[in-house]
Formats: sequence, C-alpha cells, structure tokens
Amino acid sequence: MQNPVEAFYHREGPNMKRNESLVMMFLSHRRKKYICGGCDREHREWFAINQPTGIRVLNLCADWAELKPYNKEGKLTGLWVRLIQKRAGNFKGGSFEDLLSHWEGVFMRPTKEDMRDFEKKEKS
Ligand SMILES: [Zn+2]
Repeated sequence: MQNPVEAFYHREGPNMKRNESLVMMFLSHRRKKYICGGCDREHREWFAINQPTGIRVLNLCADWAELKPYNKEGKLTGLWVRLIQKRAGNFKGGSFEDLLSHWEGVFMRPTKEDMRDFEKKEKS
C-alpha cells in the first residue's frame, strides 16, 4: 500500500450527519483501522482510496442531499422511494467505479417525466 495521506475536503450542505453515514457506507469496503497519534483513539474515517475517488463519493452524497430526499421525520420522501425503486435495481456488477456511476444515476435530479410518473402513481 502507498503511504496514506490525509485528504481534507469540506463541503457544507443539508443532512450532514446522514451524509456522513452514506459516505461511510459507500467506502466501507476500503476502511482501514487507524489509531490516531494525535488523540490515541481510533478514527472511523480512514479509507484506502485515491483522492479523486474519495471526492467523487463525497460529491455524490452531497449533491443528492441537496435534492432534499428526506422529509421532516427523516424518512425518504415518497418521490425518492419511488425513484430508488425505479433506478437502483439494474446494477449489473462491476468495479467500484461502475458502482459509483450506477449510484450517480440513481441519485440524479428527478426529470419532468419522473415527476409526472410519480404524480400518476400517487393518484392511483
Ligand atoms: Zn485523533
């Protein structure tokens, strides 16, 4: 393994706590154990990934959070439940980059057609 680097990337946005969990989920397969020399504790945010991939995952989650996928109770909105059902099922497998591309597609801003489709389903 290459020598690890600390990569700082900061972005403000809604749902920061949930976002962090989502990022951790995407990167969980690359998590490494790291006992911090500074505070002698284990930090969970330590991953063996390259910086562009890390930033891509952070942006994927932060872009999605900006679409406000959660309601006031902290649950996915009906629209997003529907969009995820519609979009998430077709992953054919592949590399981590393929998986990220897949989720970038799932987390895309709803199109006019998606909205019409959702409104139709709501009424029926
Ligand atoms: Zn520390």
